[in-house]
Amino acid sequence: MVDEAVDARTHELAERYSAARDRLDAAVDAAGRKRGDVELMVVTKYFPADDVRRLLGLGVRCFGESREPEASRKLAELAADDPTGGRPGDRAAVFDMIGSVQSKKAKSVAAWARSVHSVDRDKVVDALSRGVLAALDAGERSDQLGILLQVSLDGDPHRGGAPVDDLPELAERVRAAPGLSLAGLMVIAPLEGTADRWMSLAAQVREGFLADHPEARELSAGMSGDLESAVAHGSTCVRVGTAIMGPRPLVSQ
Ligand SMILES: *Cc1c(COP(=O)(O)O)cnc(C)c1O
Repeated sequence: MVDEAVDARTHELAERYSAARDRLDAAVDAAGRKRGDVELMVVTKYFPADDVRRLLGLGVRCFGESREPEASRKLAELAADDPTGGRPGDRAAVFDMIGSVQSKKAKSVAAWARSVHSVDRDKVVDALSRGVLAALDAGERSDQLGILLQVSLDGDPHRGGAPVDDLPELAERVRAAPGLSLAGLMVIAPLEGTADRWMSLAAQVREGFLADHPEARELSAGMSGDLESAVAHGSTCVRVGTAIMGPRPLVSQ
């Protein structure tokens, strides 16, 4: 456990989190949107469970993790502190999977994630559906798993994400899969070109997607470097790592 009163790291996280909140509020105001419409997710990949404890103490309730088994290990450490036993849906905070999911890890992800933001292939849809059914059976979760389809904005398959043309079929597959609920889309802006260009393309893709799936309203877009642009173009969840946690360590926990 962490002694918050004397812990320098807690102070650092408190300051950076509050600065990120201010940035997000300013972006929401500038876009003429309602505060509270955009979730601030803190991305804690590569950082230890003690940092998550510090953030929970500061009132943070939404976390992003991107790697198995790092995430499962961290969540198991945290479950020991949690009177609810730490089941997704029951616990005070939510943890989303934002990194690419290997089919063989889908079962472990389904045991802890509220949503998966990075679904881009049929195989992963099927594996997550099986994983959720197993987790429901085992009493490890009590609710459906939210699915966001990751869209490749530049069509480069190496960076992850499905081509825009694949979205209709993938969406149907999610809707037909037991245990899954189609929540929306996720994008990562490619490095070349301006964030505004990519985020406006994301907004356009989303508009088409919403016409077919009006209930799938989430748009997970924006990170430390481009959250303002993402919010201006309709993001409902910004995933902020570095601006709050500091630079990621080179070696994983
Ligand atoms: C690591 C990561 C982030 C956070 O990026 P920062 O630039 O550190 O804010 C956001 N989204 C995804 C998918 C990530 O893997």
